[in-house]
Amino acid sequence: MNTDYIDSYYSRTRADDTRRPALDGAIEAETCVIGGGLAGLATALALAEKGRSVVLIEARRVGWGASGRNGGFVSPGYSLGLDGIERKLGADAARTLYRLSLDAHALVRRRADGAGVRREAGLLKCHLAEHGDGLATYVAHMNQVYGLRLEHWPRARMAEALATDRYADGAYNPDAFRVHPLDLSRGLARLAEGKRVRIFEGTPATGLGRDLGHRLVFTPNGRVRARHVVLACGGYVGGLDFRVSAATIPVATYVAVTEPLGDRLKQTIRVSTGVSDVRLANDYYRPLLDTRILWGGRISVFHPDAERLKEIIRADMLKVYPQLADVRMEVAWGGWMGYARHKMPCIAELDDGLWHNTCFGGHGLVATTVGGELVASAIMHGDDRWRMLEPFGLAFAGGPVGKIPAQMVYWSLAAGDWLRRRRYEARAA
Ligand SMILES: Cc1cc2nc3c(=O)[nH]c(=O)nc-3n(C[C@H](O)[C@H](O)[C@H](O)COP(=O)(O)OP(=O)(O)OC[C@H]3O[C@@H](n4cnc5c(N)ncnc54)[C@H](O)[C@@H]3O)c2cc1C
Repeated sequence: MNTDYIDSYYSRTRADDTRRPALDGAIEAETCVIGGGLAGLATALALAEKGRSVVLIEARRVGWGASGRNGGFVSPGYSLGLDGIERKLGADAARTLYRLSLDAHALVRRRADGAGVRREAGLLKCHLAEHGDGLATYVAHMNQVYGLRLEHWPRARMAEALATDRYADGAYNPDAFRVHPLDLSRGLARLAEGKRVRIFEGTPATGLGRDLGHRLVFTPNGRVRARHVVLACGGYVGGLDFRVSAATIPVATYVAVTEPLGDRLKQTIRVSTGVSDVRLANDYYRPLLDTRILWGGRISVFHPDAERLKEIIRADMLKVYPQLADVRMEVAWGGWMGYARHKMPCIAELDDGLWHNTCFGGHGLVATTVGGELVASAIMHGDDRWRMLEPFGLAFAGGPVGKIPAQMVYWSLAAGDWLRRRRYEARAA
């Protein structure tokens, strides 16, 4: 199995390249975490910070999956919006869950700082012009109920900040931030090792078993015996546990990075912020310190090659910034997100001692830490707050076959977006 990172801006610029050994032999721990993405690392750290003994095994390398490839936008909340959570669970539970994500956001910030991972402040969530300006009410509500410090940016302020008329208005969050996600993942692994977590790379779990009240995790050259096992394999789960696999829809999404723009960066993004629009398959982008733009978007079940991806993402960027027509994309890549049908994380005990912490979709940089804290607290103290998520649960989604309806939904949303834009342009003309 190839255990190198894929080619991406992040793997090219990662701060260190420590390799961890593969597991060779039989070992014991109180908890064995399977998967070295943010969900697995957050779980391992939460347990180890309280002095618990943890082994983490990762099939490839720490942060090899979605966690080391993403947009690097760190903000509270979940893939499913607050409205959707409220409809399913009621207002009180929805508020509790959002507050958990605010705590986790603060924890990710502290851990990034503790690991020496650079943070850049500010994210701007935008309404496209064709959606009309609707974010003022949202800003007032979030500030009042959750004590956030969001600012409402009307159309004129948006045009000043971003050299485009694509947006109607925006909600600026000065407390959200951007990171180099592969450095964050690797930094969390270092913090975990500092708390005595034993991490093995190049070590896929190939099967699960039981042994006298304990659980066994089999790997190609070894075995872990543990009281608790946590599955944290995201969209790369494969067939390890049928129930988790069948509930996880792997959905691809893409990112590309331009050549350095120098002063031309000011022809597009004139303020230091990450930008994203509010569609499900949205455009999101941010300036990098070396004057490149990182651009992400789309959801798909296909994974085109890197050259084709550069063209696809470049075309998306030119729809917003046609002034960059002569700018090259230098590198492009994709990653699989694990989505549940309901778009909420799946965090629960499957059977006695077997946990899963998964399905964070496209909003996992903070939500994975909510999951890590909930699972760790349940293992250590029998805390049952994870049960708040039970109404969502491991809903059967057909596993990889679920990609087909997911692609249909994306195409229909994209067609709706296209139509709305055409109508808007016709009215404007
Ligand atoms: C391109 C892209 C852009 C994104 N942008 C953002 C963003 O800006 N902000 C945001 O909040 N979220 C974003 N997301 C979502 C976010 O990255 C994910 O929700 C989050 O990283 C999920 O973490 P995870 O640990 O569950 O999964 P992963 O990071 O995918 O980790 C799972 C790990 O499990 C390992 N594994 C799988 N099977 C086994 C096995 N049998 N044995 C051992 N190990 C195994 C895999 O190798 C992998 O390393 C983005 C995702 C992508 C793909």
